Amino acid sequence: MAGPASLKELMEQASGRRFLRAESPEPRSITEPTPFPFLALVAQREMKLALLLSLINPNLSGVLLVGPRGTGKTTAVRSLSDLLPLVNRSGCPYGCLPEDVETGGMDAVCPDCAKKYGEGQPLTYRDPVRLVELPLHARLEEVVGGLDERAARHNRMQLQRGILSHADQNLLYIDEVNLLPNEVADAILDAAAQGIYTVRRGPLAATYRSRFALIGSLNPEEGRLRPQILDRFGLRLIVHGLADPAERLEAYRRVRAYLANPQATIAAYADQTLAARQEIQAARQRLPGVALAPEAERAGLELVRRLLIDSLRAEITLFEAARAVAAADDRTTATPADIREVAPMALRLRRSQFMLDYFTAQQAEEGEIAALVGTVLPPDA
Ligand SMILES: [Zn+2]
Repeated sequence: MAGPASLKELMEQASGRRFLRAESPEPRSITEPTPFPFLALVAQREMKLALLLSLINPNLSGVLLVGPRGTGKTTAVRSLSDLLPLVNRSGCPYGCLPEDVETGGMDAVCPDCAKKYGEGQPLTYRDPVRLVELPLHARLEEVVGGLDERAARHNRMQLQRGILSHADQNLLYIDEVNLLPNEVADAILDAAAQGIYTVRRGPLAATYRSRFALIGSLNPEEGRLRPQILDRFGLRLIVHGLADPAERLEAYRRVRAYLANPQATIAAYADQTLAARQEIQAARQRLPGVALAPEAERAGLELVRRLLIDSLRAEITLFEAARAVAAADDRTTATPADIREVAPMALRLRRSQFMLDYFTAQQAEEGEIAALVGTVLPPDA
């Protein structure tokens, strides 16, 4: 059959390829800004699939990568830069969108945009999703924004935009997410949950859209992640180092070739990278037309019930991930096989031992209350 290979085929084909020996022995700077090609990452199939699904379906609300250092988590996230799809962005400094007019009428946008909309001109333009990295140890002011100190020195009160205001419709990557100060984590979670956030400093206030997918990584040796933050990540990956010596050797060869000549490595994967990017874009467009088969729904709910998971985000993620797999595979129905494929990444780390123990302990009191109510207030009284 003609046409582009499915995204999953591309992923498996490219990562199984043997890489040629580096031809240029001349070493280059390790801080080369051009990222390692995603399709050159060896093995780590589940991690790669999760990252691709998060590009196809923004409803997955992010990916968490848990594992020791040196397992390629950060490299994998940064390598997404070449695969990012296009989205519609507002061309207006106030962030007006055609959806605002459709839901709130002409008063919901600024006068300029109302005029444009009336004339049938577009309010948005196509622009690639960006990977926004939260710097380690970022302060709350830098994240949400605050007073512009340079302007303040000239007696002008002005707000400076924070990192979060640039994350709208983008991916926000937080390395060592478990080490984030609580106030910063709370601000990010609130903004992600509301899709909009407001900064107030004295008499000044500014509101920004903040519809972004979170990608977090952490090394569990360095500290726990608060359950509240953990719950926000749709897909969860436990990233192990490569176990197969042949794969480790191949990974070493590719990294060496990349360090010797990044451009040549990128060029070697350019065709497949372009095909994968087009496939991601096409899968995003197919996604609204993908339905879940009733037997897939039943199987998913049964898994969540038997695992004793409370959070509704479990089945939301499970079903949305299965739909993304079907879209990547050019199908209009997500099947039980799709559920099987994504169940571990959607459901792991969701059951809370604390809550299970808590509910068990609470049952004794519930029984006591029911018995007492029956004695003091018998049904026929
Ligand atoms: Zn506007």
